[in-house]
Amino acid sequence: MHNPLDTPIEYLKGVGPARGELLRKELGIHKYADLINLYPNRYIDRTRYYKINELQNSGAEVQVVGKVIHLKTVEQKRGKRLVATFTDGTGEMELVWFQGQKWIRENIKINVPYVVFGKCNSFNGLFSMPHPEMELLTEHEQSLRSAMQPIYPSTEKLTQRGVTNKVVNKIMQQLFIETQAAFAETLPHALMQELNLIPKKAALFNIHFPKSQELLARAQYRLKFEELFFIQLQLITKNFIRKHKIKGHAFEVVGNYFNNFYQNHLPFELTNAQKRVIKEIRNDMGQPVQMNRLLQGDVGSGKTIVALMSMLIALDNGFQACLMAPTEILANQHFSGLSELAKPLGINIKILTGSTKTSERKIIHEELQNGNLHILIGTHALLEDKVQFHNLGLAIIDEQHRFGVEQRSKLWRKNDVPPHILVMTATPIPRTLAMSLYGDLDISVIDELPPGRKPIKTVHRYDSNRLKVWAFLREEIAKGRQVYIVYPLIEESDKMDYKDLMDGYESISRDFPLPQYSVSIVHGRMKPADKDMEMERFAKGKTNIMVATTVIEVGVNVPNASVMIIESAERFGLSQLHQLRGRVGRGAEQSYCIMMTGHKLSNDSKIRMETMCSTNDGFEIAEVDLRLRGPGDIMGTQQSGVLNLQIADLVKDRDILSLARHHALKLLKEDPSLSKPEHAALKHAFTELGKKKNIWNYIS
Ligand code: ADP
Ligand code: MG
Repeated sequence: MHNPLDTPIEYLKGVGPARGELLRKELGIHKYADLINLYPNRYIDRTRYYKINELQNSGAEVQVVGKVIHLKTVEQKRGKRLVATFTDGTGEMELVWFQGQKWIRENIKINVPYVVFGKCNSFNGLFSMPHPEMELLTEHEQSLRSAMQPIYPSTEKLTQRGVTNKVVNKIMQQLFIETQAAFAETLPHALMQELNLIPKKAALFNIHFPKSQELLARAQYRLKFEELFFIQLQLITKNFIRKHKIKGHAFEVVGNYFNNFYQNHLPFELTNAQKRVIKEIRNDMGQPVQMNRLLQGDVGSGKTIVALMSMLIALDNGFQACLMAPTEILANQHFSGLSELAKPLGINIKILTGSTKTSERKIIHEELQNGNLHILIGTHALLEDKVQFHNLGLAIIDEQHRFGVEQRSKLWRKNDVPPHILVMTATPIPRTLAMSLYGDLDISVIDELPPGRKPIKTVHRYDSNRLKVWAFLREEIAKGRQVYIVYPLIEESDKMDYKDLMDGYESISRDFPLPQYSVSIVHGRMKPADKDMEMERFAKGKTNIMVATTVIEVGVNVPNASVMIIESAERFGLSQLHQLRGRVGRGAEQSYCIMMTGHKLSNDSKIRMETMCSTNDGFEIAEVDLRLRGPGDIMGTQQSGVLNLQIADLVKDRDILSLARHHALKLLKEDPSLSKPEHAALKHAFTELGKKKNIWNYIS
């Protein structure tokens, strides 16, 4: 049976081929169903009309009834603008267009009553309304009136080509007329009753043509719940399948390696959070089911030792382990850190990266295959086909956001029974959100820092205060401390950034001259060997200042470095700023982070600076970041607007998300395959949604 909602959009009256093409390209609207799901961004109360002499310079969006009495084109330096004089008997104002002037000029009617709507600005007492929405008064009076005016998402091109908000509104009305609003219910009746949700049909009607504020709110609630509920159903089902289908090695014993280390060689007492997390991991790996666990812990929370102890469990059970890091510098750090910790245990640990020599490589390949190599640490090089383990039992991936899901599964294929997987990340995200994004992973959180850490003092300084900042650096260096100065170099190929970095390096070298001071530099264009050498010099305390790009962003550990200067800090995202700051505060001394910027800052930049100055808590920072950027970016996916959510907001609607998760779990417990008759509609909608690959492909 043909579902009318599958009808191609151009068949809708008032759309046609040209507008159909435009809607497809600009908004991804292919068929009726897509248009229905184009929810308004906001609503405007247009129940009252203003007189021109009542207008206030408040920037509010208002509607005025009047006539255009004159139309002229004004030449300005930066192009032309079209200006209409608009009057209502109480005064005059201007309507102004910068774009689409030809279309307006040809279509606007002189001396005919219009309702104009838009934002008013005043210059020298004369009000003007740029790009107003206009409707003939006669049409305005006839159209379906609702108290609230929906404002739909749009693009410049759509407006330019005459597909204005008014037009979208009209074709939406047409769609409701043609389909007779025959929208099937998707949620089970019992659930709707329990939660007092309005029917799907009523919700869709009121989202597009709200009769009142109250009905609009109820429509939004219902649609948000539905959206999040379906995502949860999907994630829970997936997790369930994984736990039942994907076998894993059951590490039944906790043996010599682990016990010996725990009893005799722990360099410090574990925090309670570390203990708890190790227990969770031990528990998981004890089951004959593959572990897929995300370990979240703020910078410096002590993930390394958790990684080591997890690997020891694999070793105790006769298996090998590997740890994969996103960069060579990080892999090296892990290698030296873990080797140091594991020294007394007599285990064979090696490192494999792009710059490992062929002869060494051969030895590694051999030892891996005959099982003499216990732990392999490395970069992407671990994923090469030649790297074959004897029996890989645990794979740890550091800094998840740099590895795709695909690479994760590539690791699996190295064995018949896949290894347990532990993903470690220092980019913390709120738990409810993590559950929604990483539904296929279980989550452990180290939510406690090792004792005795002094919070890093963070300040924001303008470039004009550089002299004072430099004086402070001299004081700190005199006390024996070391300093990082980080420059933005977002793209390695960016010539301007590179020049800034080199100019910066030169002037710092001048301000901190030899022989009293010595300055290191590390950036992405250097050979790996040179980078390592410079890092090494700094780590050993042979240089006072490390000038660097974000290559040092993750993992680098030089406890004596106590000052982090971030240049052009406004260009970094919050999580990057937090990561950078995490490079200091690792020793016993008071540490500082100084963010340098110019005077001109966007609102978002100001919020970022203020947030960094007011808290050291990675989770708190992640929440703000989430609000500023949306979760898609945070996960480092290209796709912004996570999961292509249509109406719900994972941050603002967290309560609804929890509720949806609760009910999804409950429902799947009662009816795992959704085969009860009362769940037929739900199952149908769920299957349909599953076909829309784009929503799911990036989480699965
Ligand atoms: P991250 O989670 O950022 O990887 P690390 O594992 O590098 O953190 O640990 C940061 C620092 O804290 C290291 O110098 C480590 O030796 C130290 N550390 C970790 N756990 C503890 C603990 N329980 N008590 C004291 N120091 C600890
Ligand atoms: Mg680390």
